[in-house]
Amino acid sequence: MSVSELAGAIVESPTLRLNEEARLLRERGEPVIHLGIGEPKNKTPITAILSSASKLSQGDVKYCPSDGLPSLKKAIIRYTEEAYDKLVAPENVIVSSGAKQAIFNILYTILNPQDEVVILAPYWVSYPEMVKMVYGVPVIVTPEDGSFHPRMADIERAVSSSTKAIIVNSPNNPSGVVYREEFIAQIVEFCERKKIYLIMDDIYHKLVFDGRVAPPCYRFTTKDLEDSRLIVINGIAKLYGMTGFRIGWCVAPRKIITVMNNVQAQTTSCASPVMQAGAEGALLGLQSFVEALRLTIQNNRDVAMRELSSFNGVKTHKPDGTFYCLPDFRAYSSNSVELSSFLLKKALVVTVPGREFGMEGHLRLSFAGTVKDVTEGIARIKWALDPTSPNDIYIGDKRLIRDWL
Ligand code: PMP
Repeated sequence: MSVSELAGAIVESPTLRLNEEARLLRERGEPVIHLGIGEPKNKTPITAILSSASKLSQGDVKYCPSDGLPSLKKAIIRYTEEAYDKLVAPENVIVSSGAKQAIFNILYTILNPQDEVVILAPYWVSYPEMVKMVYGVPVIVTPEDGSFHPRMADIERAVSSSTKAIIVNSPNNPSGVVYREEFIAQIVEFCERKKIYLIMDDIYHKLVFDGRVAPPCYRFTTKDLEDSRLIVINGIAKLYGMTGFRIGWCVAPRKIITVMNNVQAQTTSCASPVMQAGAEGALLGLQSFVEALRLTIQNNRDVAMRELSSFNGVKTHKPDGTFYCLPDFRAYSSNSVELSSFLLKKALVVTVPGREFGMEGHLRLSFAGTVKDVTEGIARIKWALDPTSPNDIYIGDKRLIRDWL
């Protein structure tokens, strides 16, 4: 069966593949712990449920404007003003089926074939694949000092006359790093001077710890939004743990949104109005929900850091935000794909290989689950890898003896 060269070259989403593997193992009754997945355990905010349910119970679920329900766009404008101190117009906003679709559509909107997009490692797995899907060329910039903080000098070296955009994701999936204010200021100035689009994937911007704030790009521009190169992506998936609603959005200059809207209208028509109503319910509901979620995740982060610190040889950067950390496991293996499948086989723990994020030798661990899962998951990894740990462990109701170290 023939498929296009382009589609055939797109790699499977490793996180979704691992979800499926974990689901199959669980179905067989195996006590798998999932430290791979990026979604918290919370229930949907009640205001979101009621709002979606009310839309559904009217029995009148039809197409809606392709750029989103006007009432949801109003809620997004309010959110942008409150969270970013930036007043935008409805024509600056488009609602999509998840931040993922918003990112794909923006890349489709701005790139010509062979245009380059600079991506900062470690990066979210989907960026390079999405760039390739619109015939663009991903250019990866990796910090040499292993700090996970990008440096302007490296970026400037990677930029060429073909560079159309730079994607910045801070707080960062997978490292949990929040980029420094001076870096955001520099990159805004650089992109505006060079007329390069700066795509800020801000999906985790409120999920930050220890009183930190993720510096918003708008603070560093002197330009009006219409003349700026700033594109901000956001959504409800991480903000409210509403991953299954599939609602995200993009804020950008009007000219960009108009074309992006044509792209969306010709592909998906619009995001589901039932789910858009849910997003509106969440955005207009009690925002203490976001703070409660943030505190739960911050506590999980602390537990994960405490458990990882007992490992000889594993180096971890303490995350400033997100659900993730990216410990360096090179003391045990330099092949993260092999290490991750070894851990799934021996310890029934799902981790995501760092190679998928452009950081070989590391594993991404998610602490979005329960404290019990985080504690037990890391204990199992330690048992499987660290010869100084006791060589027996209970996994489920089976006592296992380590016989490979
Ligand atoms: N950007 C980043 C950095 C992410 O981690 C994710 C989800 N894992 C997304 C975008 C996609 O968000 P959504 O579920 O709204 O499509």
